[in-house]
Amino acid sequence: MQLTNRAKKTDKSEMSLFERSYLPSLATGLGITIRHFFMKKPTIEYPEQKRYLGPVFRGHHILKRDEEGRERCTACGLCAVACPAEAISMVAQERVKGEEHLYREEKYAAVYEINMLRCIFCGLCEEACPKQAVYLRHDMFVPVFSDRKDVIYGKDQLVEDMNHRYQRDAWTKEDAQKLWK
Ligand code: SF4
Ligand code: SF4
Repeated sequence: MQLTNRAKKTDKSEMSLFERSYLPSLATGLGITIRHFFMKKPTIEYPEQKRYLGPVFRGHHILKRDEEGRERCTACGLCAVACPAEAISMVAQERVKGEEHLYREEKYAAVYEINMLRCIFCGLCEEACPKQAVYLRHDMFVPVFSDRKDVIYGKDQLVEDMNHRYQRDAWTKEDAQKLWK
């Protein structure tokens, strides 16, 4: 029984003298090579050129601030519990009087670290966060590292810079082309 019509019949007839010279096959192969030479190349010269990865790409983590510049994270630990790689650790601290402009909640993460050697960029920390504090940026890779001491990312590398705020919704292919051209 024939299941599909994709079967290709092979020609088992004797090859002619011309065919046995392999000249037709050579010409066909050369034609394919020349055609590909003029086609648009699917490869890019990374890292000079970068490809648009789409809004669902999970890259460098960021700890977001709110509109007033206060850290959103309340050190609840849910991201650390959700993390299958046990890559997140933190030390919680209570906000004192006068720190209301720094931390949104009464408790904050005095230390927040992600071990990038363990992280598998699954995004579960982002899913688990009740404060929309931790995100995996879709516009930034975690850079390559060659030293183990460079793999623990602390708050200095994670907390959002208010001068360059991260906006996932505003990120478009056109934005990427502007940035990477
Ligand atoms: S992306 Fe996944 S593995 Fe990485 S820190 Fe978040 S939960 Fe852990
Ligand atoms: S990033 Fe979110 S889930 Fe993780 S400790 Fe902070 S508030 Fe909790």
